[in-house]
Amino acid sequence: MGLLYLGTPLTWEEAKKYADHVRYHGITQFLHTWDRVKDRYGDELLWGDEVEYMVVSFDNEEKNAKLSLRQTEILAKLSKIVNDLSDDAVETASIPTFHPEYGRYMLESTPGSPYTGSIPDLLSVEANMRYRRTLARKHLKPNEIPITFTSFPRLGAPGVFTEPYFKPENAKSSHSLFLPEEITNPHARFPTLTANIRTRRGSKVAINLPLFIDERTPRPFVDPTIPWQRSIYPEDPEAKNGAALIDHIYMDAMGFGMGCCCLQLTFQSCNVEEARRMYDALIPVGPIMLALTAASPIWRGYLADVDCRWNVIAGSVDDRTAEERGLKPLKENKFQIPKSRYDSVDLYISSDWINKPAYNDNVVPYDEAIYKRLLDHGIDELLSKHIAHLFIRDPLVVFSETINQDDVSSNDHFENIQSTNWQTLRFKPPPPNSPIGWRVEFRSMEVQMTDFENAAFAVFIVLLSRAILAFNLNFYLPISKVDENMGRAQKRDAARSGKFYFRKNVLPPGHTTPTPSSPSSSGSCSPVEWSGSETLVKEKKLRNCFPPLARPPCVENGPVEDEYEEMTVEEIFCGKGTGFPGLLGLVEAYLDTLDVEASDKLQIDSYLDLVRKRANGTLQTPATWMRNFVRSHPAYKFDSVVSQEINYDLMLAVDQLERGILRVPELLPDSYGHPLSNGMANGTAKQQP
Ligand code: ADP
Ligand code: MG
Ligand code: MG
Ligand code: MG
Ligand code: MG
Ligand code: MG
Repeated sequence: MGLLYLGTPLTWEEAKKYADHVRYHGITQFLHTWDRVKDRYGDELLWGDEVEYMVVSFDNEEKNAKLSLRQTEILAKLSKIVNDLSDDAVETASIPTFHPEYGRYMLESTPGSPYTGSIPDLLSVEANMRYRRTLARKHLKPNEIPITFTSFPRLGAPGVFTEPYFKPENAKSSHSLFLPEEITNPHARFPTLTANIRTRRGSKVAINLPLFIDERTPRPFVDPTIPWQRSIYPEDPEAKNGAALIDHIYMDAMGFGMGCCCLQLTFQSCNVEEARRMYDALIPVGPIMLALTAASPIWRGYLADVDCRWNVIAGSVDDRTAEERGLKPLKENKFQIPKSRYDSVDLYISSDWINKPAYNDNVVPYDEAIYKRLLDHGIDELLSKHIAHLFIRDPLVVFSETINQDDVSSNDHFENIQSTNWQTLRFKPPPPNSPIGWRVEFRSMEVQMTDFENAAFAVFIVLLSRAILAFNLNFYLPISKVDENMGRAQKRDAARSGKFYFRKNVLPPGHTTPTPSSPSSSGSCSPVEWSGSETLVKEKKLRNCFPPLARPPCVENGPVEDEYEEMTVEEIFCGKGTGFPGLLGLVEAYLDTLDVEASDKLQIDSYLDLVRKRANGTLQTPATWMRNFVRSHPAYKFDSVVSQEINYDLMLAVDQLERGILRVPELLPDSYGHPLSNGMANGTAKQQP
């Protein structure tokens, strides 16, 4: 989540009076930033991950696995430990940081300082993640464990799912039928965000996930766990008045979405243009990685017919009014808005010639006055539109103490809007008074149960990001197709049985595939030597600052509809036809341009191998594994219900598989958990709970 201010948050009725003020000064702050850093050039590759955890508390007598609500105490302890470590001459750069998150049972960790592009840094990611997990694990109670799990199966289910127990009747911010107030981080920002989304929207959020219909699921399924007749809060009748759909899992609060865990990566770019290219190139990759990392098939005690968290979070913070959602004619509000403020990216922003206007085929409402102000300041149309689109949203949390800011030295108002536009990618301008450059954040992936997997996906994406720059790859397809892929990615078993729109030829005009033996492309442009071929001196590190491709004399200008087709996930990763070597083929070709020692290459290969085996179906996604776990549990009644007992056993299994005690060859490669396999050698993973 964004920065945590200390102060007095305003209710929605008060905060909305300052919406234009926050927007106006937010843009002023952005313009100061722009003037300061628009010509900044030459920032090195720095990058880092964010890993989120749930702290689970085991009650072995009751056979219950619950969410531990001790975030405040745990974070206080961890920050003390971290301070002691820095006094103890442990290399400061390696001391991780722990952050609060929305759920009072959640933790987030990041490396103490960003990784550089060095190969040793790349190889240290897994050990770094393990170290962070070990630190957290060591400072919990003996019956508590930090798990990297996307959605807690019994969050909001009947019975006791938190430690300690609280009743949902007191949920004064969300008015939820299912989640108590105490599920939310107590810092004023979070309850206020929750209440202000509900108030602005004019009703509770309403999320309906299709239920996984099993052999003995009652039909039609009218959920017996919804307190249909409750009347404590004015919104209580919403469920029976149509908000809760039959044959669906209904959820009514921000906590169901923002209480999920994910894996995010941030990359620094050479300059603003390179950041814009990177942002665009990773947009079509977002849904594909969501499908491949799918890890959330269970919600509010039921198996769902989806495998991913995305639509739940999108729905959980959807503050749009009925007018903005197009259900009523516009009267109070300015815009009809097609999507939640948490959703996939709406607009490609690179000013590179390969970004054809036809790719931006979504309806993108934007604030005309802000757009004009940005244009008048000399900012180009695409970037101006990007910002003016983010700024159609209202600020949700305004603190009375920070309404007036120094727009030169602060970016708080800008960040207020920017950081509550939660999209698959985030384009991050350099903050004031800091050495940090232009960055791009990749946000679609679900967190994996082991750090081997989390490291594998982090390493894969950073290598792909370098292949994109080094080979000038072109992943563009109409952004409406990316949205369609986002929907497809979340369907049950999408990684195996889904098809996704992807670009047929990702190489610059005239270039052949980077595998030397492949046939050259035909057409009017003659094949050009691949720029990363053996004739070049091999690089010793991953880097930034690759020149963009000059516009060639012959640009194919056919209809963009011919540029893409539907592919399976296996084809997207392993290749299809002559123009597309697959994302893994591209990463392998990029690795060939690096000077990597054989033993280091083995470690990288183990990560790429995981990605390949997921993509070709040799290994299951976590979602498939979890679904199978539930369906083969002796207590499962084939009625879609994931009981307290099944959840308890699942949580125990998750912990044991993470520690390498439980072998799950259908999910993890054989080598996982063997004492000498990667990252396990240093013993940090062998910690007992
Ligand atoms: P947020 O929650 O706003 O997305 P965090 O501060 O939690 O961001 O995480 C940011 C990530 O970016 C961390 O992994 C951090 O190591 C990394 N990072 C920090 N500085 C840089 C930088 N200059 N360039 C790229 N990444 C950075
Ligand atoms: Mg986070
Ligand atoms: Mg965050
Ligand atoms: Mg942060
Ligand atoms: Mg963070
Ligand atoms: Mg983040």
